[in-house]
Amino acid sequence: MSRRRLDSRSGLAAGLLGEIQTPISTEPLESVYDITGELGRGKFAVVRRCVEKATGKVFAAKFLRKRRRGRDCRAEVIHEMAVLETARNNARVVNLHTAYETDHDIVLLLEYAAGGEIFDHCVSEELLPEAQITRLIRQTLEGVHHLHQSNLVHLDLKPQNILLTSLSPPGDIKIVDFGLARRLGVVGELREILGTPEYVAPEILNYEPITTATDLWSVGVIAYMLVTGESPFAGDDKQETYLNVSQVNVDYSREAFSRVSELAVDFVRKLLVKTPEDRPSAAECMSHPWLWQLCLSPDPATTRPRTVRERSCGTKWTAPPEDPEDKENFLESPHSHAKKFRFDEERPAAGDGDF
Ligand code: ADP
Ligand code: MG
Repeated sequence: MSRRRLDSRSGLAAGLLGEIQTPISTEPLESVYDITGELGRGKFAVVRRCVEKATGKVFAAKFLRKRRRGRDCRAEVIHEMAVLETARNNARVVNLHTAYETDHDIVLLLEYAAGGEIFDHCVSEELLPEAQITRLIRQTLEGVHHLHQSNLVHLDLKPQNILLTSLSPPGDIKIVDFGLARRLGVVGELREILGTPEYVAPEILNYEPITTATDLWSVGVIAYMLVTGESPFAGDDKQETYLNVSQVNVDYSREAFSRVSELAVDFVRKLLVKTPEDRPSAAECMSHPWLWQLCLSPDPATTRPRTVRERSCGTKWTAPPEDPEDKENFLESPHSHAKKFRFDEERPAAGDGDF
């Protein structure tokens, strides 16, 4: 395996990782793969489905432009690869298979997530059953916890960057898009990176230090969107959205949360708090009772798909049980870590608050 070192000074100054192990082939991609269609695209990347001719295996090829706005951005692409390599043993992160280079792009051959984005489940008329949502949030937290243990922060967690291995029934989650991810502590404090307006945490807007808690804000936004089908901070324009974020202006009304248990509201409330230090860590979140209440005794009211006006209340409080489905990938027993947060102490009293 070749080992490459990036010596772009600007890249290193920006806190980017510069060392990768994955060889970058200059062989024509088309000689090895049939490129069959587009899976998604962002500002500087397009992702296409492709099939390895020799094996029939399907991959997602992410074509990343090397020049953006007239600037050489190879360092950013190498960084994205390096982060994926660091997260290689994280089952909740998409696997980097290999890479190719063309005149304009570096192409990352990624594990194919056939179920698409969880975003589709946030905007669908038929939202996911609550028990499915808690399973997906548990898996997202496992992935985020693992990243944070490696001192990595994703900084662009949103429903478009959480994919599923299969669509129906919904498979396991895979986190993608590590373009904004950073290793904490590489070059002092991180302050500058900006994600997508609707999903950015208040500390990013205020140019305050970025920490692992920044990702937990995003998990709160994702949970909100899965349970309500609405984006909590989206305004009519960017300015209004930023104002909503910095004032933590969230609708917790009964109407918005009409279809889920009160524990869901409690979970989201714990994460969407302005001061990063006051948010629970990913490991602490794993012990929240919402994530465990529905996984062993499926109740037809909470496991069938929900339509927009349904309500499924009547929360049962249970100790977090073992989830046989997730056993392999579960990183830490919810009982095993010292709890800074005792979620049971902070439950809103019945009839308290605005939901
Ligand atoms: P960008 O940096 O442009 O946002 P992403 O890595 O997020 O690029 O990819 C853009 C979109 O392509 C994703 O939101 C998703 O819909 C699709 N996509 C990305 N990676 C995969 C994959 N491994 N399998 C299937 N679809 C993917
Ligand atoms: Mg993306």
